[in-house]
Amino acid sequence: MTVRAGLRGAPLVSALIDLLGTEKVLGTREDLLIYEFDGAVDTATPDAVVLPNDTADVAKLSRFCHQHDVPIVPRGAGTGLSGGAIPVEGGVVVSFARMSRILEIDAPNMRAVVQPGLVNLHLSTAAAPYGLYFVPDPSSQKACTIGGNVAENSGGPHTLAYGVTTNHVTGLELVLSDGTVVRLGGKAVEYEGYDLIGAFVGSEGTLGIVTEITVRLTPLPEDKRTILAAFPTIDGASETVSAIIGAGIVPSAIELMDQLATEAVEAAVGAGYPLDAGGILLMEVDGLRDGLDEAATRIEEICRANGATTLRRAATTLERDRLWAGRKGAFAAMGRLAPAYYVQDGVIPRTRLPEVLRTVRDVAQRHGVRIANVFHAGDGNLHPLILFAKESELEGVKQAGLEILEACVAAGGSITGEHGVGMEKNCFMPLQFTADDLATMGRVKSAFDPAGLANPGKIFPTPGRCREFQLAARR
Ligand SMILES: Cc1cc2nc3c(=O)[nH]c(=O)nc-3n(C[C@H](O)[C@H](O)[C@H](O)COP(=O)(O)OP(=O)(O)OC[C@H]3O[C@@H](n4cnc5c(N)ncnc54)[C@H](O)[C@@H]3O)c2cc1C
Repeated sequence: MTVRAGLRGAPLVSALIDLLGTEKVLGTREDLLIYEFDGAVDTATPDAVVLPNDTADVAKLSRFCHQHDVPIVPRGAGTGLSGGAIPVEGGVVVSFARMSRILEIDAPNMRAVVQPGLVNLHLSTAAAPYGLYFVPDPSSQKACTIGGNVAENSGGPHTLAYGVTTNHVTGLELVLSDGTVVRLGGKAVEYEGYDLIGAFVGSEGTLGIVTEITVRLTPLPEDKRTILAAFPTIDGASETVSAIIGAGIVPSAIELMDQLATEAVEAAVGAGYPLDAGGILLMEVDGLRDGLDEAATRIEEICRANGATTLRRAATTLERDRLWAGRKGAFAAMGRLAPAYYVQDGVIPRTRLPEVLRTVRDVAQRHGVRIANVFHAGDGNLHPLILFAKESELEGVKQAGLEILEACVAAGGSITGEHGVGMEKNCFMPLQFTADDLATMGRVKSAFDPAGLANPGKIFPTPGRCREFQLAARR
């Protein structure tokens, strides 16, 4: 953690009130407490919270913070799972709760222009009358914001065939940490020059703040087929994922759940999942109606050949919604199993799923913890949910998480599939990147944010917090 000499505490709050007015600034202890958390486990208190109304407010705030050496941490809905929105070095949290409007739905160009605080699901709901939707559908889509999705390059159950957030963003308006407003791209498919949108999407607020986003909208599929397949073992379920894709079928979704996760979901949601299965797959094919039944039948045949004991195809929209309600409510359902959980997020080549899931089982046994698995199996994106009850167990739980990530890297994968690095995994970056790699990324950050005020303490290992992890680095 860097110690900065800048303005802090009550003097910062009153200076911000002078700058922006009382209605845009929060600074009491009670108000600040709410912004200490996101969906992960680390916490830190901001010195102040600002709720801008527009880009001009964000630019004004950024110029002020630049002059007074104050870190700025953007925040959407706070559903992030890597501590990205936590102000680890203090400073100002910028909440986009008031910049949550759809500015335009341009159906002929299949684009929408939105503010960053817009809730993900609200965009698809608004685009539906035009026969369009926004593809990235994180399971948190009822709450998370498009700004957060851009910052994390979020995926979701249906991004297997259609691509993650970066594939659906064509334009951005940014405010850099010195207050400069920049526009990248627009509504066209391609722009000349470096792909700076590509660099910005997934940068977790460390390059600047997004104040407007132009996204690609996609025609709603004419129809869908949703299939549930249950297998006696999780190995059977995970081997089937590669068998389906290896047969040349790319479903829009292939999600996997193990028995422990199914148990929680059934207790909470009652989605109709079989309780005796070692692993279940929830799969969907969509697109033009012609050919869907053939694709679904082919998937069912492959499941059967791989030992599926139950196969169920949703016959009605209600049945399909019920099957998906189970998957989308799976994280929340963990409360049925334990008071708390720590979710890991690694990604591996999908053919390595069976062996890495066996390692997850070994890690659980070694640490004496229960781990439920619910994940985007088609993408090879694992989400082991490590259950625990008391804060005193957290260090052991985090160690179990680290061992799972080490297994992901050893299998040719990465320490994050979609939840980002944030402050939770910045110390683990040397597992995957050399010092030269990190220095190169640091130069990219400096080009956007030379003062280092944009969401500091994220992505890059920090000398204080990460000393012991740097010693454990692989290369
Ligand atoms: C139950 C549950 C299920 C989830 N399922 C998925 C899933 O299926 N797929 C997936 O990818 N993720 C998933 N997530 C993680 C999370 O919802 C996503 O990362 C989401 O995109 C975060 O959005 P948010 O608005 O909550 O962002 P926040 O948590 O508020 O912030 C996340 C990051 O974005 C930055 N940020 C926010 N707004 C801006 C902005 N305007 N400009 C620049 N940076 C900004 C923040 O600084 C932070 O680094 C899940 C989370 C939960 C709790």
